Amino acid sequence: MSRSVLVTGGNRGIGLAIAQAFAEAGDKVAITSRSGEVPEQLAKYDVLAVRCDITDSAQVDAALTEVETAHGAVEVLVANAGITNDTLLLRMSEEAFTSVLDTNLTGTFRVVKRASKLMMRARRGRIVLISSVVGLSGSPGQANYAASKAGLVGFARSLARELGPRNITVNVVAPGFVDTDMTAVLTDERRAEIVADVPLGRYAAPAEVASTVRFLGSDEAAYITGAVIPVDGGLGMGH
Ligand code: NDP
Repeated sequence: MSRSVLVTGGNRGIGLAIAQAFAEAGDKVAITSRSGEVPEQLAKYDVLAVRCDITDSAQVDAALTEVETAHGAVEVLVANAGITNDTLLLRMSEEAFTSVLDTNLTGTFRVVKRASKLMMRARRGRIVLISSVVGLSGSPGQANYAASKAGLVGFARSLARELGPRNITVNVVAPGFVDTDMTAVLTDERRAEIVADVPLGRYAAPAEVASTVRFLGSDEAAYITGAVIPVDGGLGMGH
């Protein structure tokens, strides 16, 4: 069955791999990004690209309306868009803290709230939030990012309770280190330190995160809700 799937930040990195996985499975996929362009990797699929900055409620509302008009109510929502702005606490400005929270946590709230309206009416839906191993373990220099990613866990579990009676599942995927633009900024030295801590001894490919997200959006995962699934090569040992 072809479902209406929306992936925020679906133009590159992990979001792109997620969009590809659902498109490959035959779903009707929409992606958002700030540019609104279809990346060349998705050109062979009939993917709808919508411009949307998730820090702006009006843009979120307009984007969801566009997706609903083209593909019908969103049945699977993947809230993937996110940013980092790393620095140590004493150097971290309030703006650096609140802007990361505004994108990663409040931005996810904006999209989930808007999409869940029609899911509730339909009495079915799948919501997957992309958190991070760092939200569970903490990370020096990433207090803002880790707080935002930990916040997603409490947010998801509250929604799992609120929306469960409407047959909507809400789960979190917590990737470890994944080869994308976000981690390309790390120095070789930092990269080597990270890999030394990962039992599988390497970064993940975006597709390895995408396959877990696709599973959570599938019928096979119908009885999983409120879960935090690590995809981290063993870095967090199940936490
Ligand atoms: P990238 O930096 O490669 O991509 C980030 C995506 O988020 C882009 O599509 C970007 O869109 C979008 N985005 C950022 N800010 C906004 C905004 N205000 N409004 C709309 N879209 C926005 O990141 P990754 O693919 O690496 O990360 C994807 C998710 O996975 C993030 O939530 C990240 O925190 C999480 N994650 C990543 C890990 C990693 O190692 N890479 C590990 C654990 C979690 P645009 O192109 O328009 O900027």
